[in-house]
This record gives sequence, C-alpha cells and structure tokens, in this order.
Amino acid sequence: MKSVRLLDVKRIEPTDADLPREGKSKVLIKVELCGICGSDLHIWENGRPEGLIPGHELSGTVFDPGPAGGVLKAGDRVTAVPVNPCGTCSACMSMQFNRCLNLMADAPGITTPGAFAEYFAITAGSVRKMPDSMSFEEGAMVEPSAVALHAVNLAGIEPGDKVLIVGGGIIGLLSAAWARICGAAHIGLSEMNAKRGEKALALGDVDEVYDARDPKLQKKLLALTGGGFDKVIECAGPAPAVKSAIGATAHGAVVVLAGISYSDIPVSTMRIAMRELTLKGSYAYTLGEFDTTMDYIARKVLKTERFIDETIGLEGVQSAFTRLADPTGHVVKILVRPH
Ligand SMILES: [Zn+2]
Ligand SMILES: [Zn+2]
Repeated sequence: MKSVRLLDVKRIEPTDADLPREGKSKVLIKVELCGICGSDLHIWENGRPEGLIPGHELSGTVFDPGPAGGVLKAGDRVTAVPVNPCGTCSACMSMQFNRCLNLMADAPGITTPGAFAEYFAITAGSVRKMPDSMSFEEGAMVEPSAVALHAVNLAGIEPGDKVLIVGGGIIGLLSAAWARICGAAHIGLSEMNAKRGEKALALGDVDEVYDARDPKLQKKLLALTGGGFDKVIECAGPAPAVKSAIGATAHGAVVVLAGISYSDIPVSTMRIAMRELTLKGSYAYTLGEFDTTMDYIARKVLKTERFIDETIGLEGVQSAFTRLADPTGHVVKILVRPH
C-alpha cells in the first residue's frame, strides 16, 4: 500500500509499505482522510521515530472488521480514537485512559504505524461509527476538536466569562469555537502571526485579536478587561506565550496549559500566588469527550469543515509539513487523502 514514512529530521516521503497485518486482532480501515496535527510536526522536526508512518486524525471505511465482525461490517463509515490504552493499569481501571501509564506502548501515528497510509489497523474498541450526517472531513476533525474540548472543560468556562486564547493554531481556533458554545462573553486571541489573526477573526468565534509581539500587551489586556481574563487557554507552547497567559489573568483565574514545550519555562510564582491562579495541564481527552465531540459535530453545533485549508495527496505531505511549521504562514489545517 502507499504511505509516507519519516526518514530523517524534517524529511517525510512517500513509500510502499506492507498492509497492516495484526493477526486479525484489529480492525483494518481504508483511510479516507487524515489530518496533519501539531504533534506530527514535532515528530517531523525531531526525525524520530525513524521509519514511522505518522497520522492519527482519521476517517475512513471499514475494510476488514476482524474481531469486531458482529458490530462492524466492511464499508461502514468510521473514525477512531487514536489510542490503545492498556486496559490494565490503575488509570485505565478508573476509566482515565488519557492517563494510561502505558499509553506510548501503542500510540498509533506516534509510536506505532499511523494513518498517512491507504490502510490503518486499530483496536476494535477505538473505532467509532460516524452518523450519516457526518462527512469524512468532519470525521477527521473529531480528534483535534476533542483535544480542544478537554482544554475548555478543564478551564471550566461559564456563561459571561472573559476568555483569552494564546496561539491561533488549530487547537486555539477550536478552543475559541468551544468557548463560544459554552457562552463566553468575550473571547480574545493573542497571536504573533497577523495572517493567522485575520483568519481567526474571519472565522467569527474570536471577538478580538491582540498582537503577541507587542511589549505592552500585558498592560493593555489588563486595562481592556478591567483586571484580566477569567479563563486563559495557552495553545502555543513557547515561554513568551506561557508568560503572557499567566500575565493576563484576573484574580482567581484558571490557566490551562494545552501547548507543549520541550524546555523548562520560568514563570512568576509571585503572580500565581498573589492572584490565586489555578494552573492546569491538558493532555488529549477522555473517551466521553471524544464522543461528545462527535455528537456536537454531527449536529453541526460545532462546525469544523471551515477550519480546513487544504486537502492533499501523500506526495504533498513533505511540502504541507513545511508550510504548517512556517511561523509566518497562514495555513492551520491540512488533510491528507491517501487514495
Ligand atoms: Zn492530533
Ligand atoms: Zn493503561
């Protein structure tokens, strides 16, 4: 089958691969679409694991239901929760699969073969049938939308809240969309790339965009909001973004850290203490949040097709990764169509 493989640092190329053969223990899916995610870009920038087929935000049709033969049949339109929790650790036993202690042992597209390929195999329990009202594009958007829902849930956004999103990538934009659904009164976005800022405004979930490069931004935001934002969701990762997230808070605010940084970041513990802030880390989502996301997308409450910039073939993946990683670029979401 056709696929793409990670060959080196910032190098991913089309290759032929064997059809996933999982001894009939998994469901074989013919991939229709698979989104390129921020974590795919991290893997690409590091060039590891070498030889990996990335991709975990997929939709497709069942090709061979394997052990799920009683529940699924060939041709069923599906998406999948791209995790294979071990089912036996203490976190799995309490249904917190995103905290599974062995999650990285079999993380499709991260440590084991993913869905930038014509076919993809995954545990039966992770497969979700898509309602007829859901397009393949929407199916591929469920996973990143669930990541954003988890961050928004952790923030505890309530009607009337002033919300700041830091970073206008896809998770930031989706977080803004969820914050709007939750009834936030004002949603601001801090972003250093003007093109992404314009895009966010055009999408309509964000009320105002602030230039993250402005050295006086923190002062301005505190004045503008009459003392700071109630809920802040940091979706960028680098140190200046985390610092500005903490700096723009009101007393008693919640700051959710959904962006990922590989280096340690110094923060003002003085501000955290004196403003009595709550800092929370956000990672993946619960099974319930994945299913809630499917429901909101199927009912078109959360409209996700508008976030998609392009759909490309496997031969365009290297160029797409390069463009998505460009901090001055305007694209935030590209889907891959392997067939
Ligand atoms: Zn993802
Ligand atoms: Zn586990």
